[in-house]
Amino acid sequence: MAINRRDLLIASGGALTAAMAGRALAQEAQGQPLMGNPTLPLPPQQRMGWAVVGLGSFAVGQLMPAFGDANRSRLTALVSGNPEKLARLADTYGVEHTYSYDDYDSIVDNPDIDCVQIALPVGLHAEYTIRALEAGKHVLCEKPMASTSAECEAMIAAARKAGKVLGVGYRVHFEPTNQAALAMIRGDDIGPLRHIRAEHGFQADPENWPPHRWRLEKQLAGGGSMYDIGIYGINTSLMMLEGDAPMSMSAVYAYPKDDPRFREVEGGVDWRITMRSGAVVSGSSSYCYSPYHSKQTYIGAKSSLRMDPATTYYENALWHEHGGRGTQIPAGAPYTQFAGQVDAFSEAARAGRPHATPGEMGYRDIRLIEMAYRSADQGGAPVSLEGI
Ligand code: NAD
Repeated sequence: MAINRRDLLIASGGALTAAMAGRALAQEAQGQPLMGNPTLPLPPQQRMGWAVVGLGSFAVGQLMPAFGDANRSRLTALVSGNPEKLARLADTYGVEHTYSYDDYDSIVDNPDIDCVQIALPVGLHAEYTIRALEAGKHVLCEKPMASTSAECEAMIAAARKAGKVLGVGYRVHFEPTNQAALAMIRGDDIGPLRHIRAEHGFQADPENWPPHRWRLEKQLAGGGSMYDIGIYGINTSLMMLEGDAPMSMSAVYAYPKDDPRFREVEGGVDWRITMRSGAVVSGSSSYCYSPYHSKQTYIGAKSSLRMDPATTYYENALWHEHGGRGTQIPAGAPYTQFAGQVDAFSEAARAGRPHATPGEMGYRDIRLIEMAYRSADQGGAPVSLEGI
């Protein structure tokens, strides 16, 4: 027998009547208060507005997507010298304001921009940071902070004069695996750190990867592998040695001197820092390593930590080595470091307090690299780091 739509409605109506009779006994559906006091994202209009300057591989691949995960920051402006790329990315991300490098200074008139992220080649960091500060914006400048320590001083002075927050993009401080390592070092299991080994490098490939071209030109790069990749070993090791202070440094150049890639900048440095506590950090930095190296080992008096890789975007891993065994320590997803960094900077800027990785930290690291070069220029003679 065919069942038509009317029969079905009548049948379901009977079921509905029965359900409604039962409902008199059941609890009424009603809204509860917000449970667990969750941290909610800020509504878009209350978030800090960001301009990204320089739409290269890092900005497009890592920084801009991070705003999709951010809770306290929104992307409001883009700055680039390439009009087609600018229009396409602005359209894709729904970004209202676009600027060329020529009209960059007019960001001063835009109240939708609170913070500026500088993602240009290193040789342009100081100029574009200072112009943004003079336009009354807070600045998060990519690492390494600048080409020279004198440029870093000028950037810090400009931030003080403008009364704005200046930070350096040391994303590793916001990366969960490194945060887990730091928590273990602060705890009881590792004991005082005695030795840190830091190995960072890759094969510079200007023929096949255009972003490596400016990295080999001194005017745009500031320096060689130490500026680009070795800085992770220095900065991350000192993060784990909080409360300690670097006292002396020695370094030697370690790369083939006849390699035409390294006419302007160094291709590799092996370095060693002695800390006030007696701990030693020994590192290597290279544009001649295969495969990509990003390794940190923290040897403590009681047990040790090994990170391999240690400072990548997505794959960091941490092992606790103790009693002849290695136990992998779980941590949150590494990719959250980008949104974590941008939101932490937004909060620091809103409160007018220093960012976790301030300009002064970027300045310290450039001075340490300058000292590594000074020692290497003298064939590895130790140089004092007192006052750095
Ligand atoms: P990239 O070459 O991919 O991008 C550089 C951008 O700057 C390009 O869009 C380019 O068009 C623009 N630009 C403007 N003027 C230029 C000039 N005169 N010469 C060359 N390019 C010019 O480089 P990238 O890898 O995106 O690096 C950009 C910055 O980000 C650097 O400071 C780098 O150290 C930093 N970075 C940081 C991380 C990190 O993990 N924090 C990773 C990679 C790069």
